[in-house]
Amino acid sequence: MTGFEELGIRKELLKAVQDMGFSKPTEIQEVAIPLALQGEDIIGQAQTGSGKTVAFGIPIMESIDTRSHHPEAVVLVPTRELAVQVCTELDKLGKHMQIRTLPVYGGASINVQIERLRLGVSIVVGTPGRIMDHIERGTLRLDKVRIAVLDEADRMLDMGFIDDMDFILSKLPKKRQTMLFSATMPEEIKALSRKYMHLPQEVLVSKDEISVKEIEHTYLQIPEPRARFTAVRAYLKKHKPRLAIIFTRTKIAADNLAQGLRRNGMKAEALHGDLSQRRRDQVMQRFRQKRIQVLVASDLAARGLDICDVSHVINYHLPDEPSTYVHRTGRTGRIGKRGVAFSLALPDQMGLLGEIERFAGISIEEEELKIGKLPPARPGFNNRGFGIRNRERRQHRGRSRLGGRNNPRRESRDRSKQHSERKREQGPAPIWRSL
Ligand code: AMP
Repeated sequence: MTGFEELGIRKELLKAVQDMGFSKPTEIQEVAIPLALQGEDIIGQAQTGSGKTVAFGIPIMESIDTRSHHPEAVVLVPTRELAVQVCTELDKLGKHMQIRTLPVYGGASINVQIERLRLGVSIVVGTPGRIMDHIERGTLRLDKVRIAVLDEADRMLDMGFIDDMDFILSKLPKKRQTMLFSATMPEEIKALSRKYMHLPQEVLVSKDEISVKEIEHTYLQIPEPRARFTAVRAYLKKHKPRLAIIFTRTKIAADNLAQGLRRNGMKAEALHGDLSQRRRDQVMQRFRQKRIQVLVASDLAARGLDICDVSHVINYHLPDEPSTYVHRTGRTGRIGKRGVAFSLALPDQMGLLGEIERFAGISIEEEELKIGKLPPARPGFNNRGFGIRNRERRQHRGRSRLGGRNNPRRESRDRSKQHSERKREQGPAPIWRSL
C-alpha cells in the first residue's frame, strides 16, 4: 500500500492525517481519492469502518475555496449522530485549512443553523429532511455547491429518504461532482445514481478489507424469546466486554433491556429515536467517554456511529435483513482492531443466520454459554427478573405500610390487588410482549 504522500494531496491535509494518527490510506481511500481528485463521480461500495469519510473528505477539502462564504459541498447522511460524527472527522481533516463545517439535522434549533449558514459555511453535513427544510426556507444557498456526497445511501433509502435525496440532488448545480457511498446497492440507489451521476467510477472495497471479516461472529440458539435477557446477562458476565452495543428491534425493548441490565449492576443506557436530541447527545458522549459500558440501541439511532474501541456488538434481536447485520456488526472491529459479534437466534431463525453467513461471506460459530434454567413462566410477569422483583418490592412495601386489618386504606389496596389479579389472568402486559 502507498502512503498518503503518494496521493498527491496538499501538505495541510498530510499534516492533518498524520495528526489523526493514520499511517497509510485504507483500500477505499487509496482507490477513491485519486479518482475523486480528477473530478470523477464515484460510487463507493463500502461500509462504515472502511475509512470512507476520509475518502470523500480529502477530495472535498482539496476543492474548497476557503475565501468563499457559501457552501461548496453538501454531504447527506441518514442520522443526526452521523452528521455530527462526519463533521467532527471533517473538522479534524480541515484543521490546518480553516474550513468551516456545519452539521444540520432535525431536533436541533433551526435558527442557530440559519445564523451559522448566514455567517458562512463551506461544508454542510445534514440529514435529508433538515436540508430540504433549509432549501425550502431559502436559508441554504446551493448555487456554489461543487461536490455532493450521499453517505450510507442504502440506509437513507431504508429510512424513507429516497424522494428527499432525489429532490436535493435535483436542486444542486448540474456542473458538480457526486460521490455516493453505500454498503449495499439496492435498485433504487442504482436508479438514483443513473439519474444524477455522470459515468461514475465504481470502487468496490474487497470483502477482506471490510471490517466484518475481521470480527469473530458467534451465536447462541435460545429456546424462546423470554430466554433473551438471561442469555445476554450470562454472556456479559462471561465476557465482560470493555464497550458493547446491543441492538434491539424496538425502542421499548431498548429501554427495558437497559433498565434490566442496570438492575443487574451494569452501566447501561438506551439510545433510540424517542429520546430528545439532548439526551441522545448525552448518552453518546457518556458512551464515547466509556462512562457507559453497554449501549442498548435501536438500528436507527446507532447507524453509522463511529465509536472507537467497541469490543462487542450483540444482536438481542436478529435483524431481518442480512445487510443490517453487516451494518450493525460493522460497529466493532474497526480498522486494525478485533471485535466480536454475538447474536441470539430462535430455532426458526437458524435459516436467517445461514443467509447472513452467505451474504457477508463469514462463518458464525456457536457460542458455548450456559444460561441456566429460565424462571418459570408466570402469566402477568415478565420472567426476566427485574419486573418480578419490582412487583414484589411494591407488594412488600404495601404490606408494611398498610399494616393492620382495620386500616382504612386496606380496602383500596384489596381493590387494586383484585385489579392486578384480573390483569394477570389476561396474560402478560403488552410492554413485555414486545421484547
Ligand atoms: P469511516 O469508514 O469513515 O466511518 O471510518 C472508520 C474509522 O476509521 C474512523 O475512526 C476513522 O477515523 C478511521 N480511519 C479513517 N482512515 C483511516 C486510516 N487511513 N487509517 C486508520 N484509521 C482510519
